[in-house]
Amino acid sequence: MLLSKIKSRGFKFCADLIGGVGLLRLISLLVGRLEQRTTEAGHIQFPFVQKRVQRSVPIVLYHGVSNEPSPYLPTTSVDVFRSHMQYLADYCHVLDLQDAVERMKAHDLPDRAVVVTLDDGYRDNYLHVFPILTQLSITATIFLATGVIGNGGVLWHDQVCRMISQTTVRSLRKFGSVDGYNLETPGGRQHAQEGILWFLRSLQDEVRSEHILLLARELEVPETASDVGLMLNWQEVREMHHAGIRFGAHTVTHPILTRTSHEHVVQEIRQSKTAIERELDGEVLTFAYPSGRDQDINPVIKDIVRQEGFRCAVSTMAGSNRETDDMYEMKRVGFWDREMNTFGLRFEHFRFCA
Ligand SMILES: [Zn+2]
Repeated sequence: MLLSKIKSRGFKFCADLIGGVGLLRLISLLVGRLEQRTTEAGHIQFPFVQKRVQRSVPIVLYHGVSNEPSPYLPTTSVDVFRSHMQYLADYCHVLDLQDAVERMKAHDLPDRAVVVTLDDGYRDNYLHVFPILTQLSITATIFLATGVIGNGGVLWHDQVCRMISQTTVRSLRKFGSVDGYNLETPGGRQHAQEGILWFLRSLQDEVRSEHILLLARELEVPETASDVGLMLNWQEVREMHHAGIRFGAHTVTHPILTRTSHEHVVQEIRQSKTAIERELDGEVLTFAYPSGRDQDINPVIKDIVRQEGFRCAVSTMAGSNRETDDMYEMKRVGFWDREMNTFGLRFEHFRFCA
């Protein structure tokens, strides 16, 4: 704990020093030309640095962006998001995902390209993200789980988070493989939220629904609750689309695609694409896998995404993306640094290594 505090203070000190004397631009330019030298097996190799072989595109990932305390999935604060976007607008070339993929295929990727993505379609994307992007003249790609757009619906993982944050029950006995959760402290509730979501994501669709029902009973809260202010509505989506924000599909109900039937996977992917295309009167060519971890994707699902007409699909696996990589398993990365200098230095370190 103490060591990590010292490390993070040291990192902040270095970042402020580097940012303060204007060296971030130089570092960013250098990282555009140089990359970490590694062996085939991925081990760092002397002299540690080599000329960049291929340009790559980091795709940064966010969900909700808000300063309000939320009973749902944790959000990024507005100031943190603004400082990240300020850095990307100042030092990088921000592309929307579809544009980045086209340019990768055409071997025409600009130097220091980056893509900003936001998953699920939270209404705070309209309230807080959209004004920041507009002010900085940059774009982003928002992935919509279309079943909850404009109807007060709440995705299953947000229902679970709400149950845990609103319950007055002080502890939860055995749930999944964990023997019990203490819900008396914010830390305990956060631990419970992470563990319970992890367990629920591993279950088949229908079994998961049964467990969510069981959880609601144990926590003495309603199983579902609507919230009209949580997700975007189509009018807000259209307004952002006309202003240059791009939208991709993220299924209808946010199932874990490896835990549901083949027919249901096709239905979820196809229906989310058609819903957005109908509302925006244009083609939707980008897709984001719900949850998006290694275990949430397989070759059959990737094939369905390809056959349904998408040009690419993003995961939540960490890494950057090169022209030669699989466009149906693109990597993304999340950052939590509060200030622009620390974000900038960490972002450049990631670009150098990834
Ligand atoms: Zn999602």
